[in-house]
Amino acid sequence: MAERGLLSPDYGDSEDSREAGLRPQSLKDFQGQDAIKQNLSVFIRAAKERGDSLDHVFLSGPPGLGKTTLAGIVANELGVEFKVTSAPALEKPKDLAGILTTINKNAVFFIDEIHRLKPALEEMLYVAMEDYAIDWVIGQGPSARTIRIPIPPFTLIGATTKAGQVASPLYNRFGISVRINFYEHAEIVTILRRSAEILGIKIGEDAADLLARCSRGTPRVANRLLRRMRDFAQVAGDGLVTPKVVETGLARLQIDEFGLERQDREILRVIVENYGGGPVGAETLAISVGEPIESLEDFYEPYLIQRGFLQRTPRGRVVTDLAFRLVGVARRPAQGGLFGSSDENA
Ligand code: ADP
Repeated sequence: MAERGLLSPDYGDSEDSREAGLRPQSLKDFQGQDAIKQNLSVFIRAAKERGDSLDHVFLSGPPGLGKTTLAGIVANELGVEFKVTSAPALEKPKDLAGILTTINKNAVFFIDEIHRLKPALEEMLYVAMEDYAIDWVIGQGPSARTIRIPIPPFTLIGATTKAGQVASPLYNRFGISVRINFYEHAEIVTILRRSAEILGIKIGEDAADLLARCSRGTPRVANRLLRRMRDFAQVAGDGLVTPKVVETGLARLQIDEFGLERQDREILRVIVENYGGGPVGAETLAISVGEPIESLEDFYEPYLIQRGFLQRTPRGRVVTDLAFRLVGVARRPAQGGLFGSSDENA
């Protein structure tokens, strides 16, 4: 198993929750993603004015971009109860029924990793979302019967890093679908400035700019790097995060100017050196780099794809010329002429 990287999804979650003060509580504090915020604020206002529950919201996008944060904000802005769970935590129908039958009117119910919901629970959710009721089976065998229990109107917010794995009957029941993409550089700079202010970290403009470049367009990563830079600044200097501190700090964390960490470069190196640049299947690749397939697909790949190092094709993962240059290996010319490995029809 490879050593866990600083940027990997499950690193330092306890630290994240300790500094929950960083989590924006209102749309106004939620930096960037203007189009998403504008639409949501209209839908929220309209639902509030009518006294209705907001339509169900589907949130998709890579980890750390603010899906959980946004769900909490929606509840805050609506002024309603916020219930949080994740699909893997829901084992049995009674787990879901327990939540749905005790929910307050117009509450926001957030289910993270909704693509991992068990089929029986998904069925229950269909009825809950559409008819505000649950069908509960009592008794067994021939005497079994179903009773319909009404529940208050509520808003389901389902979040996923794998929108493609959500069954379409479930997806179609969401009235609002929001795809969160990586943040722009300027947005990450604003997030860093806001976090620095809340945490009392002194960071100059140039240093924030440099740090933002290496934050993978991801607020969670930006916040973690900021905390690490605070450590370096405190131990090595007077506590001020300067460009020099950032440069040295990033070098020590083995993060390069593209924001790639050791494991990103390892993924590219393995594809280039062991598989001639690809294609290679995701499972094989995950084993080769000692990374769970989930984090390979959810965390590492989206950014490598966005930065133009990697492509997903029907035949597997393929690296680009940029990746060959990064790894420092010349691409071998395609072999075998018409039926060679570079032939798309092979
Ligand atoms: P996800 O649920 O998509 O994995 P989170 O909602 O947990 O992501 O966000 C990760 C962290 O990043 C949060 O703790 C929050 O502090 C920060 N964050 C996310 N989005 C924003 C944003 N738009 N503005 C400021 N901070 C943000």
